[in-house]
Amino acid sequence: APNLALVRGRGTKVWDADGKVYLDFVSGIAVVNAGHCHPRVVEAIREQVGTLMHVSNLYYTENEARLAEKLSKLAYEGKGKCFFCNSGAEANEGLIKLARLWGNPEGRYEIICMDNSFHGRTLATAAATGQEKVRTGFEPMPEGFRHAAYNDLEAVRAQVNEKTAAVLLEVVQGEGGVIPAEAAFVQGLRALCDEKNLLLLCDEVQCGMGRTGRWFAFQHYDVLPDAFCLAKALGSGYPIGAVVAGPKLAETFSAGKHASTFGGTPPACAAALATLDVIERERLVKRAETIGRQLRERLEPLVAKYEHVTEVRGAGLMLGLVMDRPVKPLCSRLTEMGLLTLATAERVVRLLPPLNVKEAEISEGLEILDEALAELHGAAPAEEEKEA
Ligand code: PLP
Repeated sequence: APNLALVRGRGTKVWDADGKVYLDFVSGIAVVNAGHCHPRVVEAIREQVGTLMHVSNLYYTENEARLAEKLSKLAYEGKGKCFFCNSGAEANEGLIKLARLWGNPEGRYEIICMDNSFHGRTLATAAATGQEKVRTGFEPMPEGFRHAAYNDLEAVRAQVNEKTAAVLLEVVQGEGGVIPAEAAFVQGLRALCDEKNLLLLCDEVQCGMGRTGRWFAFQHYDVLPDAFCLAKALGSGYPIGAVVAGPKLAETFSAGKHASTFGGTPPACAAALATLDVIERERLVKRAETIGRQLRERLEPLVAKYEHVTEVRGAGLMLGLVMDRPVKPLCSRLTEMGLLTLATAERVVRLLPPLNVKEAEISEGLEILDEALAELHGAAPAEEEKEA
């Protein structure tokens, strides 16, 4: 239900059709981590579309090989393999199929997913998603998915049976309301998966690509999943998704088992390679951690200042300001005042600025937020103030 027509973007700023400028703390929902239209990314795409646009996966292309090598190095010391597709849902579908293919010889196909999770809107990923509203009206859902309470290891353990193949989780739930997993939970899941010979799969579609202050959010936990998926920020807005499989699963997909006509086209991989290059050159992973900490420290006083603000949570530059009431009216007011934010899980204002957001832009965004909170949720002015 859009209410704004945007025509141009640069860095953290976007312009609407009337020429009004906005600070963008949505980043296309965690997509433009390197800022809107980063010149290096734009140039890489421009050059590639004039050289070779598409050949299908019947052939090798250099960009695809280089991108797979890079992602494998970032996560698995070069011992992983990648499959490229076009979106987060498709990447999760790939993970699900990978887990099923792995479990198939023993008749194992079930995947334990978390309550409140979000994995996409295709039928299988909607079935994996732990939110009823995503499934309602589309039943019957594909079978093979169980759900357990997030951050509750015993609840996950209770769902394991002879058909279980894998556990799938976002280590920071995004759509669910910016909820980080507890370290003991993630580490406990790894141990549980090892004990029962299950796969641990991570959905890094939203929390990956430096957003939380690590290349991949699972890297905060000292835990390595058997495979994970990426999309969103991987191509800075040029559609691309990836399944990155570690050594245990690297040989599970053989040629012809899974495919996508448009997966990993030369321009998509050029966009992703340029994005990775910018993130490295501008040290944006570290920056997400330091600027994220600053933003968080400046958001926290709002909890004491405004009665209805209850909590600030998240990791790096993936932050949520939690309120005790719906935040849509606040987010609408923020948009009018020139700050784009996202209302999530009813009561959470999700803040996802580009990782190269300037400190001055953080200050400006905070001023707007404070002003809007004062206007909508501030204490009623004292009598004498009112008279004055
Ligand atoms: N997984 C997570 C964690 C997401 O946040 C999203 C989208 O918000 C998806 C998967 C689905 O990605 P897409 O919309 O590209 O299909």
